[in-house]
Amino acid sequence: MTDQPVNYVIIVGPQGAGKGTQAAAVAPQLGLEHVATGDLFRAILKSDSELGDEVRQYYDQGALVPDDLTIRVLFAHIEQLQRGRPDLTGVLLDGFPRNAAQAEALDSALAERGEAISAVVLVDVPRDELMKRLTGRLICADCGATYHREFNPPASEGACDQCGGELFQRSDDTPEAVEKRLGIYYEQTEPILDHYREQGILIEVDGNREINTVTKAILESLKQRVSN
Ligand code: ADP
Ligand code: ADP
Ligand code: ZN
Repeated sequence: MTDQPVNYVIIVGPQGAGKGTQAAAVAPQLGLEHVATGDLFRAILKSDSELGDEVRQYYDQGALVPDDLTIRVLFAHIEQLQRGRPDLTGVLLDGFPRNAAQAEALDSALAERGEAISAVVLVDVPRDELMKRLTGRLICADCGATYHREFNPPASEGACDQCGGELFQRSDDTPEAVEKRLGIYYEQTEPILDHYREQGILIEVDGNREINTVTKAILESLKQRVSN
């Protein structure tokens, strides 16, 4: 661990709100490293290991991976990032924390290191929009960039604009798994937002607008909160 203070910003919202899309747009501009627990698990799934078999049992059902395993994977990743980049100024957490136990684990891990959360950005979209967004979502197999068949199509069908990689549909973007994941969000994740609201660090952004409009609103709201 280095002495460099790290800004922790969280981006939260229901599945399909546009967290991944927005994180990719704003993180580089704010000097933050985008860390998405879902991406960490997808990398583990690809690795064809025992850990991958364990994660798959939860992932494909749209269930949460157990907290202890999730926390271990996340903090191991952040420590590895910091070792590789001693100049790291901040992390944009996407997909974590998702329940009260994870929020507490994050608070205590940061307190131990003399660090704190700078801001929590809630990107919100009405539930009836989310299914359309998720069942049309396409992801690049090589760089993870996110597209939508209708709302944000790639320039040439099936190929990533950024790197030419092949686009695929996530195994858990089926209507059944989406319903289950949204249910977990409203039951377990949304309630933890009060904790951040009380601390005065919750920023609410209307995600039901054009992608670029949402990006501008997030950048504007974070400008003063993220120092580097
Ligand atoms: P999340 O990470 O919150 O689950 P994504 O960023 O993966 O959400 O976005 C979900 C889907 O919705 C993707 O297919 C994405 O291209 C599309 N999308 C994201 N933001 C918008 C928006 N503002 N308007 C329309 N579609 C969007
Ligand atoms: P989504 O938010 O659209 O469900 P993610 O890409 O964030 O998708 O996560 C995909 C899957 O990875 C989740 O359904 C869950 O199985 C696992 N996962 C991601 N983040 C967490 C977390 N914080 N705690 C437990 N499981 C997680
Ligand atoms: Zn790509």
